[in-house]
Amino acid sequence: MVRGKVIIFSAPSGSGKSTIINYLLQQQLNLAFSISATTRPPRGEEKNGVEYFFLSPDEFQERISKGDLLEYEEVYTGRFYGTLKSQVEKQLEIGENVVFDVDVKGGCNIKKHYGDRALSIFIQPPSIEELQKRLESRATDTAEMIQKRIDKASFELSFAPQYDVVITNDQLEKAEAETLEAVKTFLEK
Ligand code: ADP
Ligand code: 5GP
Repeated sequence: MVRGKVIIFSAPSGSGKSTIINYLLQQQLNLAFSISATTRPPRGEEKNGVEYFFLSPDEFQERISKGDLLEYEEVYTGRFYGTLKSQVEKQLEIGENVVFDVDVKGGCNIKKHYGDRALSIFIQPPSIEELQKRLESRATDTAEMIQKRIDKASFELSFAPQYDVVITNDQLEKAEAETLEAVKTFLEK
């Protein structure tokens, strides 16, 4: 049976991780995005079952109690995010390569779980000042939420050495090309 592989992305919010993941998903690499569950409300054009499964705090707790989550974290105070086991296993079984967008703790846990079947990639911003600018120009979070994301960035950056690959997203096209190369090399192994 051909099982798919796992590609994990983590980065401080605003680094350009979603932009790079979306670019990668458009390539012919048999990639499928792992749709996480979260208790945060949809942002902008986000739809249930596309970017996330949006759950109430009670529904999320019920999933935890049932043991439905491969991992979960309270990434921001009161905001839970988690990976649904059934979803991922189904995708891997049919040979899809599953792409994860998870926080740094989740990323390290998933890497530990899948070992050599997983490639972990950390997307690094050129600086915290640039991160702030990107979050402000993305204009999808409140000022308070942007501040929470910035406050967490230094902590998240300290996890970079634990990842298999670190890509600095200064010029987007260059970062996309470097990511594509790393993923292709891993999938060909
Ligand atoms: P994340 O998923 O890491 O939170 P996004 O992919 O949403 O980040 O990117 C944050 C914002 O920065 C978006 O508005 C995106 O268009 C922009 N962005 C991404 N990469 C770059 C880059 N290299 N230079 C400038 N802006 C960028
Ligand atoms: P956002 O609110 O910007 O979509 O995501 C906030 C953070 O939650 C990001 O760092 C993202 O990678 C992380 N995240 C999303 N889904 C999961 C998940 O299933 N598990 C964990 N541990 N983190 C997640």
